[in-house]
Amino acid sequence: MAFNFDKYIATYPDFPKKGILFRDITPLTENGNAFRQTVNKIADFVKSKNADLVVAPEARGFIIGCPVAYKLGIGFSPARKEGKLPGKKVSASYGLEYGKSTLYMNQSAVKPGQKVVVIDDLLATGGTIGATIKMVKELGGKVVGAAFIIELSELNGRNKMNDCDVLSLVKY
Ligand code: 5GP
Repeated sequence: MAFNFDKYIATYPDFPKKGILFRDITPLTENGNAFRQTVNKIADFVKSKNADLVVAPEARGFIIGCPVAYKLGIGFSPARKEGKLPGKKVSASYGLEYGKSTLYMNQSAVKPGQKVVVIDDLLATGGTIGATIKMVKELGGKVVGAAFIIELSELNGRNKMNDCDVLSLVKY
């Protein structure tokens, strides 16, 4: 029987702002079995894509991206927010479901031709993952997949990723 990831997602109306229905993954990561099932399922997807590297945006993307990369013995590179990453960087700006932001990656994060899977906790409009994908491509990487715990289907973020396979474990 398929694992019921949905059972471990909490929903908070009006967080962090009025009108936002926030989907919280912390009950899922706080349950050892649910967390392991999540990491294993996403790792299977990343393995099927023969990826060389996982790239995940700050901060909740790290929670899933790191154990997936560790499990497969491949690299992990963070896409970080303003003022967090030293050295030579590339950047991409994007609009969030709430607010606006810029992400940065190390210029040396991706070797040309490397296969990359991008991972985040949640896909909403696709702005965050779209910016992450843009930087990976700018660095010469090939984005072979995108994986999320949650997908907010009605926001159509998936449409921004028509050149790579998308996995989501729970759709709302
Ligand atoms: P997008 O850029 O696709 O519009 O929004 C997705 C990004 O915003 C992700 O990095 C995600 O962590 C964060 N985000 C937006 N809405 C939610 C939500 O309801 N729950 C969680 N956990 N993250 C959200």
